[in-house]
Amino acid sequence: MKSQSYQCEGIVLRVTDYRDFDQIVTLYSKEFGKISAYAPSSRRSVKRFGGCFQAMAKLSFLASSPRSSEQSLWRLQQAEVKDLYFHHRENLFSLATLVYFCECITAFLPEAQSDGVVYEWLENVLSSYPSEKKFDQMFQFELELLSALGFRPGLFQCVECLSEFKDKKRRFFSFEKGGVMCDSCVPRGEGKMIESSPSSMSMNLSRLDFINWVHTFHDFLSFNSQQSLKTQQFRKEIMYASL
Ligand SMILES: [Zn+2]
Repeated sequence: MKSQSYQCEGIVLRVTDYRDFDQIVTLYSKEFGKISAYAPSSRRSVKRFGGCFQAMAKLSFLASSPRSSEQSLWRLQQAEVKDLYFHHRENLFSLATLVYFCECITAFLPEAQSDGVVYEWLENVLSSYPSEKKFDQMFQFELELLSALGFRPGLFQCVECLSEFKDKKRRFFSFEKGGVMCDSCVPRGEGKMIESSPSSMSMNLSRLDFINWVHTFHDFLSFNSQQSLKTQQFRKEIMYASL
């Protein structure tokens, strides 16, 4: 397999410093899905890369593909910023959320599987995540993230007996079953009790409902992850202070 150069568009998910002057950049590219790329001298060469490697930046870049099928690391040749989404960088909760979303994509999605749907979603969430406290809209993005990662939870009816939640009976979120269960179906001692379960997509979530759901979804992802998500704790702390 011969290495080839490609002009791509992508969103930076993670940047790791490597040796004295280099970096390894994880990107979600429109053309090839998630890739990791070696950026030689990127901490030194302002001319070539212009300091554009920061999480959430949308880039246009030139990169060469791995030389053999055993390798997965691309090599970056040039990059240019298309959008840094500055409006989110001034809002601490939006910033913590979007960096967390990037980390989740890094942790859960496989490399080199091109998926235009995930790319489009990532682009959309970066440009339109609300800067005001619009809890229903913010909750939608939490659900969409879980869908993108392949973990969309069942929320509107019991995932076991399929009965709908109309009354105010106790209900539980089961990490094993991936959704909400009624009091009769949840095995004793299992599941996290939840206060409110949305009965439809128009929800009018309160601040507290939203915070509780974020906690539940964090725990749900941690349950399904082999690694700890570093940005989760930071996001929790910011959430109480800024929402
Ligand atoms: Zn049930």
